[in-house]
Amino acid sequence: MADDHNTRAADAPDAVLGLDIGGTKLAAGVVGPDGSVHSFLVTPTLVQEGVQAVLTRLFDLGRKAIDESGTDPRRIAATGIGCGGPLDPEAGVLLCPPHLPGWVDVPVTRLAEERYGLPAVLDNDATAAAAGEHRFGAGAGARHMLYLTLSTGVGGGIVIDGRTYRGAAGNGGELGHVTVDRNGRHCRGCGRTGCLEAYVSGTSIAERAREAVAEAEAAGRPTALTGCSPITAADVSREAAAGDPVATQVWVATTQALACGITSLVNLFEPELVVLGGGVTRAGEQLLAPVRRIVREQAMGPAARAVRISVARTGDRVGVVGAAAVAFERVVNGGAA
Ligand SMILES: [Zn+2]
Repeated sequence: MADDHNTRAADAPDAVLGLDIGGTKLAAGVVGPDGSVHSFLVTPTLVQEGVQAVLTRLFDLGRKAIDESGTDPRRIAATGIGCGGPLDPEAGVLLCPPHLPGWVDVPVTRLAEERYGLPAVLDNDATAAAAGEHRFGAGAGARHMLYLTLSTGVGGGIVIDGRTYRGAAGNGGELGHVTVDRNGRHCRGCGRTGCLEAYVSGTSIAERAREAVAEAEAAGRPTALTGCSPITAADVSREAAAGDPVATQVWVATTQALACGITSLVNLFEPELVVLGGGVTRAGEQLLAPVRRIVREQAMGPAARAVRISVARTGDRVGVVGAAAVAFERVVNGGAA
């Protein structure tokens, strides 16, 4: 059922609605053309409730975000939706995202269009985050930019010549699945071995730390990580900074794996900027400084000199800001998808 704001102002819109469908949280917000966030709301996904109930609550949250934004609903131009893949961004269909069991071939943009009476677009959440960082954040003004989010998994997004790259079927840019060790750890995200994600996601850092603690305990070597239950990536960075040898070993392996993956990406794309987002980047320079040093040493000369590595700026609102960025890109700015 369409809401009551089908009559929109003819001049430039004030804002778009951004919706983010995560496995644990849904988020909605109204975002202006300069990236200013006029409203931002979050609620648990409760995925066990099923597609229809979750989407009803998502669209209700979006309606509330419009109400709370103080923006005239007639001046909201579009809805952007970000979600983990696989998905079909042209058709606006979620195919079978693993974080949303039971969501098969869900035509989410059509449902959003019916609910709000606005054009809607769908993109992979990491692609959307890359678009958000490029339009509004650390990547503003960059022509060639890569984005990696180091979170539960490792997502990626690519901007080439100022345009978001999506690949042949709209699911390209999976930078977390570049191989850093062909005979390495199992990757839960894609099933192969030795992917970057298997080393530098928050989940993988914690898992490697648990293994390192078990080894240390078996060898009678004390570690401060023994007191952390469950061990998180934040525990590892904190105890590494405090000089704990086991945490340091895990952290150094993390920065080396990340630098290895980024070096390959820098050689491939010769970007001027690599933006890192996600919870693991809260470690700041403890993560970035060694990665910058190794990439500078190991990437091919011109590419190594061209690249800067920075932390994302859109923060915890990246899902909504990214979804809004693709709505501006694909709807407001003339469908340059
Ligand atoms: Zn993988």
